[in-house]
Amino acid sequence: MQRLIDGYSRFRTKVFPKHSRLFAKLAAGQKPQALFIACSDSRVMPEMVMQCDPGDLFPCRNAGNLVPPPTETTSGVGATIEYAIRVLKIPDVVICGHSDCGAMKGLLQYEDLDKLPLVKSWLQYAGPSSRWLQDALEDAASWSFEQKLAMLTEANVVMQMENLRAHPAVVEAVKAGALQIHGWMYDIGSGRIRRFDPETGTFHPLIAEGQPSLPTQAKPKLRTA
Ligand SMILES: [Zn+2]
Repeated sequence: MQRLIDGYSRFRTKVFPKHSRLFAKLAAGQKPQALFIACSDSRVMPEMVMQCDPGDLFPCRNAGNLVPPPTETTSGVGATIEYAIRVLKIPDVVICGHSDCGAMKGLLQYEDLDKLPLVKSWLQYAGPSSRWLQDALEDAASWSFEQKLAMLTEANVVMQMENLRAHPAVVEAVKAGALQIHGWMYDIGSGRIRRFDPETGTFHPLIAEGQPSLPTQAKPKLRTA
């Protein structure tokens, strides 16, 4: 904890004074560029990865970057989405999965979650991904755990994009041409982001970096519906 307090001390003495005009402007309101739905994982730092300033991103983070259906009102995810779109008029939503995701590992080892009843309950919203995985990979027994995990994590991003489209605020904004939905995958070890391409049903590098893209798993296309 002392390390955190020391960090706050540096923020107060060095960082805040340097950016005081930005903070003064932000004190009067916010106009974030994107609603960013990501996992709670401590290694996923969208503000750092995209070099954002305070006020740029409207984050919504939970175990497994899940978007429950609109009928689920206790988690706060739906309320965050509704506020972001109807009040802040945010034009883009990113659902970002990541490598080595504990929530996705939990889905693959569902029977081991008995000691984590709240996690187990929450992960039901990723259930369609898991069932889809089972349906799509009848020969999954030949896959390594890592291959299954990579596949499930990508499938989950696509499924959460679909779940998002069920929210009334999203339906309205998409219909009005005022909202774009993006699905990303963040690789912790390389720092690279891949984006979901609905045309091909696969993930591609977000930007060209002059290097071969990460090897992709031999897999069927991810379906968006
Ligand atoms: Zn995660």
